[in-house]
Amino acid sequence: MTEKLDIFAKEVDAWIEHNCPQSMRTPMPVSEQVWASSSIKFPSKDSKAWFDAMVSKGWCTPEWPKEYGGGGLSFEESKILRARLKFFGCRPAQINFGISMLGPVILEFGTKDQKKEFLPKISRGEIWWCQGFSEPGAGSDLANISTSAKLNDNEYIVNGSKIWTSEADKADWMYCLVRTSKTEKKQAGISFILINMNQANVKTNPIKLLSGQSPFCQVFFDDAIASESHRIASENDGWKVAKRLLEFERTMMADLGNEGAVDIEPIKTYKNSDAPRTPGKHKLHRKIIKHEIRNHLIELTMTRTSIESKSSFSPAALTLKYLSTEETQVRWELNVASLGVGGLEAVETSEGLKQEIAKSFFYSKAYTIAGGSSEVQLNIISKHILGLPS
Ligand SMILES: Cc1cc2nc3c(=O)[nH]c(=O)nc-3n(C[C@H](O)[C@H](O)[C@H](O)COP(=O)(O)OP(=O)(O)OC[C@H]3O[C@@H](n4cnc5c(N)ncnc54)[C@H](O)[C@@H]3O)c2cc1C
Repeated sequence: MTEKLDIFAKEVDAWIEHNCPQSMRTPMPVSEQVWASSSIKFPSKDSKAWFDAMVSKGWCTPEWPKEYGGGGLSFEESKILRARLKFFGCRPAQINFGISMLGPVILEFGTKDQKKEFLPKISRGEIWWCQGFSEPGAGSDLANISTSAKLNDNEYIVNGSKIWTSEADKADWMYCLVRTSKTEKKQAGISFILINMNQANVKTNPIKLLSGQSPFCQVFFDDAIASESHRIASENDGWKVAKRLLEFERTMMADLGNEGAVDIEPIKTYKNSDAPRTPGKHKLHRKIIKHEIRNHLIELTMTRTSIESKSSFSPAALTLKYLSTEETQVRWELNVASLGVGGLEAVETSEGLKQEIAKSFFYSKAYTIAGGSSEVQLNIISKHILGLPS
């Protein structure tokens, strides 16, 4: 590390010490997540203080330019900031798809007006975004979308339906893929638009999951309106924006631990559980050790790819979503096993740590589907890294 970065790291440590309340340096249960929103809610005074401190520094979006609410940090400085926040166990100040997914594509493809209109609000956590990509007839084959948008003067009239839209019933805005032209090559007739969810012609239907939660919805558009000025990139050129956004989504999913997902270490669960141990316990010990080693290797690879991607394409980045989400499932299976017999009680009847583990165990089944299924990720790896024929 250069002397300048060394000084920066020390300043960050001092800042965290001064600004991050002790209660914000503990693992975060789902019930205490702070979601960016026009009606943002804080579970405690400490979480509001932590949010305010991070927002005023622009450190929720450390690499974004200061004029758009960012911290104006260099790549190296942001890396140090993230590493120090992780070292101190600081909770994410806010959960915001705008920061992890939409903001970076607006920075890359948006007009100056779009940047000015949306980026500062995203950085300050003022908008709850949802992602309208999947449809009943388009998931892995995303280019198959049929939700249509027809331009009438300066407005798009949107009709159709989106499905598996996370948190759509709470969202203020949706970034959405729509069909603006019927072309032979399906990708060539798609546009990327931003839709205000607060209008009568948009309806959301929550879908209940195995985990007892309802994190996503089906959304219906019946002549919904979107402004032409809220289209990112040219008409019919939205596919390139979508592909870039999916790269950001997969990076986020590979790095779930840092993005506000609950994390409980199986080793701690094992040590703190007073369940009687069966003769099979040595097998469980070995599984936990292997998992911790693989987890550490994934973290190291993540750091390596973020450095490599700075200068050129990093093939290892394509493997991370697959490896990391599969390993996260193993992590929750080991947490359940570590609780011993009866470890997986029904979500409704368990409480405290057991309930947190049960919920996360069930929810983790979704990680290898959301953002592109494991099978599809393996297809990408075989084609783009190994060069195997399709
Ligand atoms: C928790 C969660 C949150 C989500 N949130 C959102 C959201 O906010 N917005 C949004 O737009 N979408 C969201 N999704 C949807 C997600 O992107 C899709 O579920 C995913 O892309 C898979 O599409 P599908 O469900 O239509 O499955 P399908 O594409 O129908 O796939 C079904 C099965 O076939 C396999 N398969 C498909 N094609 C191939 C192939 N070529 N080779 C091998 N196997 C194949 C798949 O791996 C899968 O096992 C979410 C999903 C989950 C689980």
